[in-house]
Amino acid sequence: MICVLPQLFLGNASDMAELGCLQEAGVTHVLTVDTEEPQNLGTLKTKFVHALDDASTDLLSCLDECIAFVNEVLATGKAAVLIHCHAGVSRSAAVVTAYLMKTLQLTFPDAYAKLQATKPDVSMNEAFVSQLQLYEAMGCNVDVTSSLYKHYRLQKVMEKYPELQNLPREVFAVDPTSTCQTSQSQEVLYRCRKCRRALFRSSSILNHAYASGPVAFAHKRLSTQMMLQMESVAKCTSYFIEPVRWMEPALLGVLDGQIQCPKCRWKLGSFNWYGEQCSCARWVTPAFQIHKNRVDEILPVQIPGLQKGKT
Ligand SMILES: [Zn+2]
Ligand SMILES: [Zn+2]
Repeated sequence: MICVLPQLFLGNASDMAELGCLQEAGVTHVLTVDTEEPQNLGTLKTKFVHALDDASTDLLSCLDECIAFVNEVLATGKAAVLIHCHAGVSRSAAVVTAYLMKTLQLTFPDAYAKLQATKPDVSMNEAFVSQLQLYEAMGCNVDVTSSLYKHYRLQKVMEKYPELQNLPREVFAVDPTSTCQTSQSQEVLYRCRKCRRALFRSSSILNHAYASGPVAFAHKRLSTQMMLQMESVAKCTSYFIEPVRWMEPALLGVLDGQIQCPKCRWKLGSFNWYGEQCSCARWVTPAFQIHKNRVDEILPVQIPGLQKGKT
């Protein structure tokens, strides 16, 4: 077990067998990022995050809660926390690196180098490296509404459900014709150009200006606005969107195919879980693309009572 910052330790499973040493170091709280929850920890307060040390693990989505736990402990001024996994080199190191990035406002390479200078055997798996690069690109906040995150989540879904069956409901954006969608009426709505069926909202568009890989942007904090500008410059002829609920029957268990309007069956675009190339030459994986010339953009109604653009 080593001290990374005052009151913050990084360790491995064998540290958990040395309760006396932990107490001597002043450790009061333990954050376990492992597949097994340690037992018999006496008065120590614990948090457990189930995580394998492999590419399938979505550590990114747990980072905010892990960091909040550490911050709560350290804010008391009288407590200390140990973050550990089995070997203390990958999973726990990734969480500690994220903590350094967020609290010391370091870039991923700087935070990782700082940790390795303290604990040279630290070596996180490549999947965690790219997740932390994504975390940096999101400004060290897991923004579940961002294109970056939604894209990442789709890729994780593909890895977890290679048969593309029984996908979790939340993978699909809510159908804009659904009655519980009125609260989002301030968004741009896209309708089928032929039959005017509402298809998706602007929040479902996944920008792909970053599609050559988040690594290229690791040193920059790209806002969604900046990325949208980059994309409009690129003159993409399609919208790449997250799957919407009306697409579900066509997508499940199928690797690639057409996307048709759910009402008039007009061909709107295509999908491919392994990816498709945009007209701007960028490769997007997975891809759900709707040709821009098949849909109409309906701007939100600003004045109450003026129902222009709605049918
Ligand atoms: Zn239609
Ligand atoms: Zn494009």
